[in-house]
Amino acid sequence: MALSACKNKTANDGNNPFFSDYNTPFDVPPFEKIMAKHYMPAFEKGMAEGRKEIEAIQRSRQEPTFQNTIEALDRSGDLLARVRLVFAAQTSANTNDSLQDIEMEISPKLAGYDDEKRLNPGLFKKIKYVYDNQNKFNLNPEQQFHLENLYKEFVRNGANLGKKDQDTLKRINQRLSVLAVTFNQNVLAETNNYRLWVNKEDLKGLPESLAEAAAQTAKESGQEGKWAFTTQRPSIFPFIQYCGNRDLRREIFDAYCNRGNNGNEFDNNKILAEMIKLRAERAKLLGYKSHAHLVLEPRMAKVPENVFELMTSLWEKAVPVAKNEVREMQKIIDKEGGRFKLEPSDWWYYSEKLRKEKYNLDDNELRPYFQLDNVQEGVFTVAKRLFGVTFSPINDCPLPHPDARAFEVKESDGTHLGVLYMDFYPRESKRQGAWSVNYRNHHILDGERITPVNTVVCNFTRPGGDQPSLLTIDEVQTLYHEFGHALDFMMNKSTYNQVYQAWDFVELPSQLMEHWATEPEVLSIYAKHYKTGEIIPATLVQKLKNSGYFNQGFTNVEYLAATLLDMAYHTLEAPAIIDIQTFEKDYFNKIGLIPEIVSRYRSTYFLHIAGEYDAGYYSYKWAAVLDNDAFEAFREKGLFDQSVAASYRKNILEKNGLVDAMQMFVNFRGREPVIEPLLRNTGLMTEAGIKN
Ligand SMILES: [Zn+2]
Repeated sequence: MALSACKNKTANDGNNPFFSDYNTPFDVPPFEKIMAKHYMPAFEKGMAEGRKEIEAIQRSRQEPTFQNTIEALDRSGDLLARVRLVFAAQTSANTNDSLQDIEMEISPKLAGYDDEKRLNPGLFKKIKYVYDNQNKFNLNPEQQFHLENLYKEFVRNGANLGKKDQDTLKRINQRLSVLAVTFNQNVLAETNNYRLWVNKEDLKGLPESLAEAAAQTAKESGQEGKWAFTTQRPSIFPFIQYCGNRDLRREIFDAYCNRGNNGNEFDNNKILAEMIKLRAERAKLLGYKSHAHLVLEPRMAKVPENVFELMTSLWEKAVPVAKNEVREMQKIIDKEGGRFKLEPSDWWYYSEKLRKEKYNLDDNELRPYFQLDNVQEGVFTVAKRLFGVTFSPINDCPLPHPDARAFEVKESDGTHLGVLYMDFYPRESKRQGAWSVNYRNHHILDGERITPVNTVVCNFTRPGGDQPSLLTIDEVQTLYHEFGHALDFMMNKSTYNQVYQAWDFVELPSQLMEHWATEPEVLSIYAKHYKTGEIIPATLVQKLKNSGYFNQGFTNVEYLAATLLDMAYHTLEAPAIIDIQTFEKDYFNKIGLIPEIVSRYRSTYFLHIAGEYDAGYYSYKWAAVLDNDAFEAFREKGLFDQSVAASYRKNILEKNGLVDAMQMFVNFRGREPVIEPLLRNTGLMTEAGIKN
């Protein structure tokens, strides 16, 4: 190692920590030594090395083999891969102005580097040779799966096309990227341009924090002493949940639903229509029936028909439940003497009343039982009882941020499995939400196991005064969720850097983990009152369980409407020329969306389909089917049954991204997934479910 570090040194490499051995516990990145100025040179050098290695593969005169082509390609750009992971994780959890500038500068360069690789005809020729002659190479199942996915990824990105078609493809891609940015910016502008001004008397019934935020918004708009609400979710939804003035609710909700559809300079109708048309064209060029067919190929769903089948059967179950919810809310309206029919903008207000009436559960009742330290101890205990793994604090370990804590994850026999960081509190340098990512992926290098370094990042309430950090039930589930991702990363047994996880499967390990959080048996392990140590009372546990059925008709219908619309747009075959408003209206009529519910997103502000989740919005529910069914296996045999846990680990956690997703599930469950457990758990099984 010393030799290669020496060889790599050039005059201005100076002390760049990426260019030498880390010399840290378990070889974690030496965070305190990595400065913003080190990234750019490391990226540049990483790309240069990667290019050289790829060129060597391409120039080689030997017959292409799995080893000299596919494996060599996987190993190329090792430095780049290392820097990329560290940079991506740090810009999310601990960024600053310099890192943001670097991000802006490096993004197009990295995109260019990736494209250069994927549209490199010489390289593809070799990959194709190995793919076409794979029988000669005696490949193991992991290698076969890797090769198959790599080859098809190149094909989906246009490697198989002639020069002229590749040029067309590049033009379409470029135009689409511009349209996506415009679409996003229009939604942002429409959202930012709107204010609902309200009087003091209309603040009645609103939580104080919400009124304060509205005063702050007004002040920022130069109107101190007034109150303003916006169409951003944290503003509009609590407002229409608590505001008693029906006209105001309707006004802001209409504004929300018409973003990007106002016939002004920010109108998204034509932009989305062009995106749909171009995506259909691109799919055709690449030899696929529709955009959805292209996108779904590497996913568990495989073809759009499978998505439609599942979503439609859920739709049929959810609509009657939603209709029942309408009836229950109408009863409240009638009882209060309101002489009107429930409208979409009334839903949040009356469902809140219904929630109080039926479930009577206050988040503040639960919080004292969910002290952060106990919850963390709880997830560690669950993992230990399932898989035998342990988590011990590592002292003197470089940390991605001083707030983070490092743990060594070990097998029951003491073997080192990986390093896990836990980083819980919000700060300015951290983006919103919660996630789990790797600083280093598991892979095998020259026969040696390179162990993963992973981080779980959240934005939980900080301890205040003498009160420790007390979590809401949502936050508890978030921690279990992200920890589920972390276990997936920890236990992965990939030989290669690149794994091919199906996008509609990745939320299985995380969502599955959430089930343990609220099981009475598990709650009794960790949900202890932070002052008295008393275990959470059974009545509260029951209330918590019941509240899981609340508003499920609505939640499912509004989500499924958006999902089905996404699939409807993206199964259109070229030339796919449509008028957005007409298409949307006709489609919702056709599937029978009830008038009291608006799709979770209407077309002109459906940001998911502008990029990344196009023909992919279904994946949340798809994974929900899987996790509910998978958890059933534990319910049947016991929450900590060792044979089920071992099978889950062996067939899914260790193989995620190395084996076909459906195959993994079948190997674990002994059959393909079924939807009944999801229906039961969310009260969609029968209409009566909602009445629990
Ligand atoms: Zn997740």
